[in-house]
Amino acid sequence: MTLPRQRIAILGGGPGGYEAALVAAQLGADVTVVDSDGLGGACVLTDCVPSKSLIETSNAMTLLNRSADLGIASGGLATVNAARLYERITDLARAQSRDITARIAAENIKVINAHGRLKGPGTVQAGDQEIKADAVLVATGALPRVLPGAQPDGERILTWRQLYDLTELPRDLIVVGSGVTGAEFAGAYLALGSRVTLISSRDRVLPQEDEDAANLIEDVFRRRGMTVLSRSRAQAVTRDRDTVTVTLDDGRQVHGSHCLMTVGMIPRTEGCGLDQAGVKVDARGFIEVDRVSRTSVPGVYAAGDCTGVLMLASVAAMQGRIAMWHTLGESVGPLRLGHVAATIFTDPEIATVGVSQRAVAAGEVQARTLKQPLDTNPRAKMAGLVDGFVKLFTSPGTGVVLGGVIVAPRASELILAVSVAMEQRLTAEELAHTFAVYPSLSGSVTEAARKLMEFTPDTL
Ligand SMILES: Cc1cc2nc3c(=O)[nH]c(=O)nc-3n(C[C@H](O)[C@H](O)[C@H](O)COP(=O)(O)OP(=O)(O)OC[C@H]3O[C@@H](n4cnc5c(N)ncnc54)[C@H](O)[C@@H]3O)c2cc1C
Repeated sequence: MTLPRQRIAILGGGPGGYEAALVAAQLGADVTVVDSDGLGGACVLTDCVPSKSLIETSNAMTLLNRSADLGIASGGLATVNAARLYERITDLARAQSRDITARIAAENIKVINAHGRLKGPGTVQAGDQEIKADAVLVATGALPRVLPGAQPDGERILTWRQLYDLTELPRDLIVVGSGVTGAEFAGAYLALGSRVTLISSRDRVLPQEDEDAANLIEDVFRRRGMTVLSRSRAQAVTRDRDTVTVTLDDGRQVHGSHCLMTVGMIPRTEGCGLDQAGVKVDARGFIEVDRVSRTSVPGVYAAGDCTGVLMLASVAAMQGRIAMWHTLGESVGPLRLGHVAATIFTDPEIATVGVSQRAVAAGEVQARTLKQPLDTNPRAKMAGLVDGFVKLFTSPGTGVVLGGVIVAPRASELILAVSVAMEQRLTAEELAHTFAVYPSLSGSVTEAARKLMEFTPDTL
């Protein structure tokens, strides 16, 4: 006797939703994805992919404008063709969404282009269609948080999702918010040629990140000419024709041509029927889930930004896959947030994995720490790189690698060595005995490991 195919309904076609759909189809389920805005989700169409594409151009600008230092007879300062830049970004995002759509179609996954909502635990309403399912995954993402008194108009006062509709480069950009998104865009636009003021309500930029890394980035920003206003909270943003004014809570005013608001995200769950289905949300409205993506209602799972767990595409995708493995009876381990590798795509990039300096300083984790500056690395010298470091954490008893922070160009690529070491429970000694190419930036990873081997208790 063949068992009936499990029916899976997925609300949202971002990484949380489409990656789950691929796993469920692979396991033989009958899968329907309901998505209102396009497969790939905000990740592909408005957030991660467009921002990283913009940053690729800004990195190229930085290199071009340093070319004289590298011995190239420069033809003057490079400038941006904004229309071409934004066209490239939106084309690229749409192409990636199309690739995902083709992949989903190839797996015989049904896609309904509509706003969907839960009608009850096993029923999803998508436009005029009703879908019955054995399990439902909610992966509806999140929206930019809007401050009262700072309403985006899509022209001069902007969320990051509105940047790519501009026809020009902001001449004088004010970025409100110095978290990851604010820091990435502030750095990118500075490199592209905008004058940039970054308004941070905290003591420093990137307040949640490794302090050494954040201080380095703030120093780089200031050296390159960015105005960073610390301990400055924006209270209102207004526009008068071509000028925007940000009023701070101490009465000071900052004027610019454009203002980009990066003050966090709110869950995109309104109208999703969570109340009717009895799905619990936390005080900020994010869907409560356990480490196998179960919500408070049996048969209803949630993944990605709408859970507020860790707002990364890789985490959304893993939460979605785990939900499917769990509901379809595969063996599955809980989500391991301590193993997530993440990068802030500033220049230089900040990549992290495993334990943090903050946890070590707070005594939550016992670890030896070593910070190896990048400016002693021969490859860095050849490329004229001075800003950056490799920091490793190891267990004092065993020498096992517990994590690390890398601040360097393409740190997002370099961190893999530390992730592998951590995942495989390698010791500093084992990492140090691994060949790195000479000359290479990854040589600093093995050098840091070598130095950790040399540590004696007296030097800790
Ligand atoms: C500027 C920026 C840069 C980022 N860069 C990175 C990065 O470099 N690396 C990284 O890992 N992460 C990055 N992120 C985070 C990443 O984009 C998110 O974590 C990821 O998009 C979450 O995926 P998701 O599937 O939860 O939601 P989304 O990608 O938001 O997808 C949700 C989908 O659900 C649809 N939807 C919503 N409600 C409904 C409904 N009721 N019915 C039907 N469909 C619905 C939406 O239209 C959307 O298509 C970045 C975020 C931002 C803001």
